[in-house]
Amino acid sequence: MSDSSRARLLELGEALDGTLFLPHDEGWIEAASPWNRAIVQRPAAVAVPANVADVQRIMHAARDAGLGVTVQPGGHGPHGGDLQDCILIRTSAFDELVIDAAAGTARVGAGVHWGRLLRELDGTALVALAGSNPTINIVRFTIGGGHSSLGRAYGLAAHSVLAVEMVTADGAAVRVTGDGDAELLWALKGGGGQFGVVTALEFRLHPAPEGGRLYGGKLTFPAAVAAPVLRAMADVAASAPEPLSISAVMMVLPDLPVVPEPLRGQQIVTVDIVSQLGREATERVIEPIRSAGPVVADTVAEFGIGALTDVFAEPVDPVPTLEWSALAGTVNHATVDALVGAFVEGAALGLSLLQIRPLGGAIGRAATPPAVAGVAGVLGAGALLGAAGFVFDPAMLEPVGTALKIVRDAAAPHTVAGRVVTFLAPGEDLGSAYAPAEIARLRAVKERVDPEGLIRSNRPLPVG
Ligand SMILES: Cc1cc2nc3c(=O)[nH]c(=O)nc-3n(C[C@H](O)[C@H](O)[C@H](O)COP(=O)(O)OP(=O)(O)OC[C@H]3O[C@@H](n4cnc5c(N)ncnc54)[C@H](O)[C@@H]3O)c2cc1C
Repeated sequence: MSDSSRARLLELGEALDGTLFLPHDEGWIEAASPWNRAIVQRPAAVAVPANVADVQRIMHAARDAGLGVTVQPGGHGPHGGDLQDCILIRTSAFDELVIDAAAGTARVGAGVHWGRLLRELDGTALVALAGSNPTINIVRFTIGGGHSSLGRAYGLAAHSVLAVEMVTADGAAVRVTGDGDAELLWALKGGGGQFGVVTALEFRLHPAPEGGRLYGGKLTFPAAVAAPVLRAMADVAASAPEPLSISAVMMVLPDLPVVPEPLRGQQIVTVDIVSQLGREATERVIEPIRSAGPVVADTVAEFGIGALTDVFAEPVDPVPTLEWSALAGTVNHATVDALVGAFVEGAALGLSLLQIRPLGGAIGRAATPPAVAGVAGVLGAGALLGAAGFVFDPAMLEPVGTALKIVRDAAAPHTVAGRVVTFLAPGEDLGSAYAPAEIARLRAVKERVDPEGLIRSNRPLPVG
């Protein structure tokens, strides 16, 4: 970095109400590292703005210093690159959270995670379209489409967005709504991350079932019965009512004390159920899955929306991960058999998990009017597939990469075009998620609001 750029960053550090970290500052490594520790980042600086005025100061300083700006609330989905030419913004200070139960809406700052909103929703008779992990940032998840276990009833999270407040590349603080800049709102619903630094988001909440109670949990089976369990899951998912969502994971449990003794180091298959139908109706629907093999652990019970992510029991501490995802056209016996075979082969090389999330319902139904869906659009695919390998040791990078390739090749005959942006892997761009016509439309919005390309997303527009 040139001396003048460095001087401008030092000046920015003085001007901010929040904090600026430069390389070698105390706390630098923690400030610059993403949640996914498999990725090394070396940004020019890390800024933790305290307010909107700080974000505006960062935009001006970045332009003066010849740098870009990127936002990373957590880093579950880090960039492919090392960010050397960027100021990286952490949004933790934007912690506003307002639930308007009467209007059925929520307003959240760009630092709020799903876990906090879900806890606040307990007892309100409302639900929100959260994903499977409480530590995921709500803004990032939502502007990337956002797949929720409640999505079959209410659509992708992006479909519920009402307003986005952000600072644009020229330093203006704007509020984007459908009545104002409808084209920008369309782009932010699924293509978000390229157009500004979002500071707050407003979105629709949805009615909880009567009494506010959901029903579901995790059924765990030994991996030896993965094929019959997943075949049963595929059959059930094909005709399940929309208020019921089922997903499945084949997994190698770590050989660590956090895992209960009988399961430690074992391969398992789990089926996760989230239902708004109540105990009796849900149990009737999932019975073929229960009886497809020996259930070795069962957490299925009534719960409040605050415990939604407990169903999935995912890691909340940083994990170094390599990942892959795709959309499957349909989930039938041939699909699950191919995936079971790939999991067995991949697990021997260090694959940690392979997931199947059947879609359908409101995720695949045209919204009215269509603009409500934004660029995230309507997903006609049958399921979201995902795989990951934990790489606690750099020597694991190669075998885990090979394992993911095995999964990708086995899945290939069953996959269709399109992706959910939140599941793209580091290094992938929006061209993997959207058709050329949508990319052209997104590019036109980018050229209008950020012609110099100051704002850099982890999932950018394709080059060209
Ligand atoms: C364990 C785990 C479970 C997951 N479960 C789900 C799930 O159920 N459903 C689902 O859809 N996804 C899921 N994901 C994917 C997840 O949503 C993405 O990885 C997402 O990018 C993570 O958000 P983050 O808070 O770490 O964002 P980061 O990775 O920190 O941010 C990524 C990008 O988001 C953009 N961005 C973030 N904040 C802003 C802002 N304020 N303004 C402008 N741009 C911004 C930027 O372009 C940035 O580069 C999961 C991921 C993991 C690791």
